[in-house]
Amino acid sequence: MTSPVDNVLSRLERPRERQRGQWSARCPAHDDRSPSLSVRETDDGRVLLHCYSGCSTAQVLGALGLDLADLFPPRERAPGAGAAPERRRRLLTAGQALELLDAEALLVASSAATLAAGHALTDDDRDRLLTASARVAVLRDEVRA
Ligand SMILES: [Zn+2]
Repeated sequence: MTSPVDNVLSRLERPRERQRGQWSARCPAHDDRSPSLSVRETDDGRVLLHCYSGCSTAQVLGALGLDLADLFPPRERAPGAGAAPERRRRLLTAGQALELLDAEALLVASSAATLAAGHALTDDDRDRLLTASARVAVLRDEVRA
């Protein structure tokens, strides 16, 4: 199985490794002439994306055809799973949950800006907003667990 960072890098145009675990590439979310996108792999296998021209993570992911979940390594399966039902394990750290929440909040804010500017939301935008609210609900349950 490919790691999250390999998956992201495979979709970028000629990413260049700047140092170990850190790459730069042309940002797919805007007309990028210089490599504005920084890609970093954290010690625990997550991928951090940052566009120095100001694209949001959600915009970059959209341009790559990826989802937020694609930035996180697959959950570890407990060895011997399938026997007695185990105590539920937490899927995310609080920090990861907040990071995801932040991305969903950005999406909501950008939809609000679209509406405030007098534009209508597309069906896709509406679907994505519903997904955002569902995700926030998942995060809430996750943190409560
Ligand atoms: Zn960008």
